[in-house]
Amino acid sequence: MSLIARKELRDKRHREGDKKHLLVVEDSQLVVRLLKYYASRELKEYAVHFAETYQRGVELFEKYQEKLFAAIVDLNLPDAADGEMAHYLLEYDVPVIILTGNYNEDVREKLIKMGTVDYVVKEGRYSYEYAIGLVKRLEKNQNVKVLVAEDSAPQRAFIKSLLEQHLYQVVTAVNGKEARSMLEADDGIKMLITDYYMPEMDGFELTKKLRSNPNMSDLIIIGLSGAEKNTISAKFIKNGANDFLSKPFIQEEFHCRITHNVKMLENIQDIREWAVRDALTKLYNRRYLFDQGSKMHAKAVAHEKCLSVAVIDIDHFKRINDEYGHAAGDSALIQLSDLFATMLTQFLLVRLGGEEFCVVIPDLSRYQVMKLMDAVRNLVSEKDIDIGDHTVNITISIGVVSTLHDSLDSQINAADKLLYAAKNRGRDCVIGEDDEIYS
Ligand code: GH3
Ligand code: MG
Ligand code: MG
Ligand code: MG
Repeated sequence: MSLIARKELRDKRHREGDKKHLLVVEDSQLVVRLLKYYASRELKEYAVHFAETYQRGVELFEKYQEKLFAAIVDLNLPDAADGEMAHYLLEYDVPVIILTGNYNEDVREKLIKMGTVDYVVKEGRYSYEYAIGLVKRLEKNQNVKVLVAEDSAPQRAFIKSLLEQHLYQVVTAVNGKEARSMLEADDGIKMLITDYYMPEMDGFELTKKLRSNPNMSDLIIIGLSGAEKNTISAKFIKNGANDFLSKPFIQEEFHCRITHNVKMLENIQDIREWAVRDALTKLYNRRYLFDQGSKMHAKAVAHEKCLSVAVIDIDHFKRINDEYGHAAGDSALIQLSDLFATMLTQFLLVRLGGEEFCVVIPDLSRYQVMKLMDAVRNLVSEKDIDIGDHTVNITISIGVVSTLHDSLDSQINAADKLLYAAKNRGRDCVIGEDDEIYS
């Protein structure tokens, strides 16, 4: 197959959005059962095809090759005992994860060199969970853009090819200066792998300059150092790199370090995300409101623009808990939050706490905001909410303040007062300034 045809096939396979297909070629019933179990848990959105023989593997490959995301392949099959299935799939650039019953250093090295994603020895349940986890990892890698800064063309191409084996998006630079301007122009680049010695700007200076830029604090930097100078790795770390690799490195070490650092970044991003999210409803929380909402408010004040605040409270919510239990109450809160989120996606929506929510709406007129919030109220009032075996009818009350106050806090308090006016008027209504009422 030509290089271009292979690339086209590869791009087709890894297109976003399409249903992903995984091929498993394995003759042991026990192993298949375990893989099925882990795949059903971790790869819900995949179609997984199982083959017991090389012949069947080829048939399934031919059928699904354009949609095949990756393959998990046993080296020893009844009709192909020497890794022929893996070789076959690697020829077509399918990301292949090898399963093998016995560890053979020579075979392993040969297969890794051919571009195998990983070589997993069957040593119990953990191995199969690991293999399935790798598929998930490959999928995530597609969204990770890596910049390789390296002046040597063969080294650059080699590192690029290793990263592409694991489906990373890769861009390259030939010196530190070029790398720096690429990073400053593209905040989608999540990782930099940089050589030490390069013309124009070396890897140390590049690392130091990047670390002095607060926008680059999340960027993963991995330094490459030649084996002849063992002080380079320490200097890289001191200048702010996350990790380093000594050249020449073995491919497995390279992949382990890259994966380790990418996972670390994902964990940090998860923690950051969950610090501003409410665990029950997944909406943003009060902290996020005061962080982002205050910025929006300050901008509206500076540019004399419109900005409204609405505070929403569920009517008689205590009764739902009392009558159907707390779990039912939780379920109702989640469903209402989803409903609010679909109607208010463009605005800043948060759960203030309990059964109270707040929306910050920039740029709309007072009239538009009242109409919008009344539409939300009306939708909730008309919708039946399913909680366990029952359906309940829920209503909400809303207070809206569109006059810009000096601070967001003060505007929220004013909206809260109008919310209580809405409760006093009998609930299921929206009250704005000057006693404007929608119900
Ligand atoms: P009103 O119309 O005056 O707002 O009446 P209400 O019953 O909604 O108001 P109240 O403030 O007396 O009660 C709020 C209830 O919301 C009490 C509390 O048990 C319930 N609640 C708050 N947070 C949660 C939650 O996370 N889950 C569940 N299930 N209930 C919650
Ligand atoms: Mg160099
Ligand atoms: Mg309430
Ligand atoms: Mg309340």
